[in-house]
Amino acid sequence: SPFRKLGLDPSICRALTNPEGYFKLNQPTIVQSRAIKALLPSTKGKCDGDNLFIQSETGSGKTLAYLLPILQHLAVDLKTNAHKRVDRQIGGTRAILLMPTRELSTQTYNVAIHLCSKSFPWIVPGCLSGGEKRKSEKARLRKGITILIATPGRLLDHLSKTESLMVALKGKLEWLVLDEADRLLDAGLGGQVEQVVQHLRSNQPRAGAKRDGVTWRSILVSATVTSAIEGLAKTTMGGEDWKWA
Ligand code: AMP
Repeated sequence: SPFRKLGLDPSICRALTNPEGYFKLNQPTIVQSRAIKALLPSTKGKCDGDNLFIQSETGSGKTLAYLLPILQHLAVDLKTNAHKRVDRQIGGTRAILLMPTRELSTQTYNVAIHLCSKSFPWIVPGCLSGGEKRKSEKARLRKGITILIATPGRLLDHLSKTESLMVALKGKLEWLVLDEADRLLDAGLGGQVEQVVQHLRSNQPRAGAKRDGVTWRSILVSATVTSAIEGLAKTTMGGEDWKWA
């Protein structure tokens, strides 16, 4: 299939193209092709450490554009240890996806759960966006969330209060996504996003750090590119070394 040609895992491709499945897709959108090519290791060499700026609007398929490569990375990385794992916490939280609204969080969570549940049951998506009691969010955090989808305010809340989240993140975070970054800024959430990044930085070990003490790769999605967005990109991506898709 056209998805297979991009180097995606056969089980991911089956989930995407299954006529009876949730997605029923035929081929990747333009932004998906670009982002997947940029984020998956090519046969030529590694692309480890590259950050990506995805300029794309809602409706262009941007969610799968970043989610598919992240899933594939995590699947390969976690598969080898999956059979040994007694509880989910061992994997730690590997990816944080920040969303401007609760609705977008739920939507993105639904996409993630449909991709993971059959093909990669050891990858656990979880949503923290304030739609429920703090206590039940905390309980899910304690059980272990591999891909954490959250609004910045609620995540900050947990980062400052929930020890189990800091433990789950300790040196494990590999991906940080800012989805609809322009809407994050329009909603006045830029400061909260920066605070989240500060928390995460303080929780990353210096040893083996790839750049500026940061060990994760960042993806920023935005329909528009303004100087404010570029400023946010600089803060969260730690420099100007990002690719475009
Ligand atoms: P998004 O831009 O991520 O909000 O996606 C918008 C809509 O496009 C969603 O309903 C997706 O299910 C759909 N979509 C995503 N990828 C594709 C694709 N490759 N072909 C057709 N529709 C797609």
